[in-house]
Amino acid sequence: MSCVQHPSQAGSPANDAPRIHGRCPGALRPMISGDGLIVRLRPRLARLARAQILGICEAAERFGAGLIDLTSRANLQLRGVAESAWRALLDKLEPLGLLDDSAELEARRNILIAPDWMPGDDNVRLANELVERLAELPALPAKIGFAIDAGPAPCLQHAAADFRIERDTHGTLIVRADGRPCGVPVAAGQAVSALIALATWFVDSGGPAVGRMARHRAPLPAWAGGEHAPAPARPMLAPGAHPLGVVCTLPFGQIAAARLAQAVSASGAQAVRLTPWRRVLFEGAAMGAWSTLLAPQADHDPLAATGWQIEACAGAPHCPQASVPTRPLALQLMALARRGSLPAAGAGALRVIHVSGCAKRCAYPHAATINIVGRAGAFDLGWQDAPPSCLGLDANEIIARLEIG
Ligand code: SF4
Repeated sequence: MSCVQHPSQAGSPANDAPRIHGRCPGALRPMISGDGLIVRLRPRLARLARAQILGICEAAERFGAGLIDLTSRANLQLRGVAESAWRALLDKLEPLGLLDDSAELEARRNILIAPDWMPGDDNVRLANELVERLAELPALPAKIGFAIDAGPAPCLQHAAADFRIERDTHGTLIVRADGRPCGVPVAAGQAVSALIALATWFVDSGGPAVGRMARHRAPLPAWAGGEHAPAPARPMLAPGAHPLGVVCTLPFGQIAAARLAQAVSASGAQAVRLTPWRRVLFEGAAMGAWSTLLAPQADHDPLAATGWQIEACAGAPHCPQASVPTRPLALQLMALARRGSLPAAGAGALRVIHVSGCAKRCAYPHAATINIVGRAGAFDLGWQDAPPSCLGLDANEIIARLEIG
C-alpha cells in the first residue's frame, strides 16, 4: 500500500456555511466528520464476500463507532474512527483485499454496477475492464462516477453517475452521458474505450469547471451524439425474497455493525451485495427467522408501504456541517406516513421528504416534494423547487404543519 494521506491533510472543521468538500472520502484518504474519521470502502462489483463483510463489521466495532453506512453510491462507510486508530484499521482491511494501491486509484474507482449481475455477464466483464483501465482516465473532478448498467434494462438511472453503459430498447449496448436522453451504440468490446473517450472529451471541453456531466452543456462530439434512447428503466431490487438471496432495507442507509454481522452469520449468506438504494442483498440466504434481524418486509420500506419516501442525511451530531439532528424528525415523519397522516400528492407522483442538516442536501440529489433544511439550529420548510416558505421552525412545528387528520 502506498500514497496514503493523513486525515489532517484531508479535511478541516466546519464553519457556519455548508462546506463543499469537492471529493468523496476513501479508506486511504478518509474525511474528518463530527464523530471522527469517515472511512469509505468501495467494494469491487459492489460485492463483499462473507469473510470481508464480517471483517468490516469487526473493524467497525473495534476501531470505529460500531456504525456502518451504506451510501448512495453503493459504498460502505465506517464512522467514528479515531485518527490514532486509522492505520491499525488499514492493517485490518488490507488482508481482506479491500484497499487500492494508491489513494489516486481509489478515488477514480467510482463505479456503480447493476447489483443483480451474474458471473461472466456483460456487467462483470465491463466493470472489470474499466477497473483495469482506470489509469487511462484523465484527471476528473472528484465526484465523477461511472455506471455499468448493462442488464436487460437500466436500473441505475436515478443513481449518481456521469458516464453510463446501458442497453437500448433492442438490447444493444449504448454509452450515454448523464443528462443527455440518448447514447451511442457500441460493440461489446468497444464500450469501455468509448466510456474513457467520453470522459476525456468531458475534461477537454471544459467539464471540470462545472464538475458534473449533467451540468455540462457543451455539444457532444459527433461520434458520441447517438440517438439511441435507453430501454425503459426496470425497478430497483425490492425488499424480500430475490433469486439470488434476500434483499433488506437499511433505514437511512445505516446499521450497527454487530447487527449486520449477526444477520450475515445467522442467514448463512455467502456474500453481501450493495445497492445505491439503501438496500443490501444477502447472497445465498433464504427467507427465514434470521430475516427479522433486518426486517426485509415492506413496512420497513416507507416508499413501498405508504407511497412516501423519507430521506435524511447524517445530521447532528455526526456531521459537523449540521446544526440540527435530522433522523429523529425523519422517524417521526415515517410514523406519520404509516398512519396516512401526510398530505396526499397526485396519483402516481413520487413523494419524497428530504430532511437535510444543512443546505448541502447530501441525502437526496434530486428534487423532493417537501424539503426540510437545517439552518442555525432550526428548520426551514419548503415545497418542491420553491424557496422555503416557513423559516426557523423546530421539529414539533414541522410535524404540526405537515400532519393531516
Ligand atoms: S446535508 Fe447533512 S450530511 Fe450533508 S453536509 Fe449537510 S448536514 Fe452534513
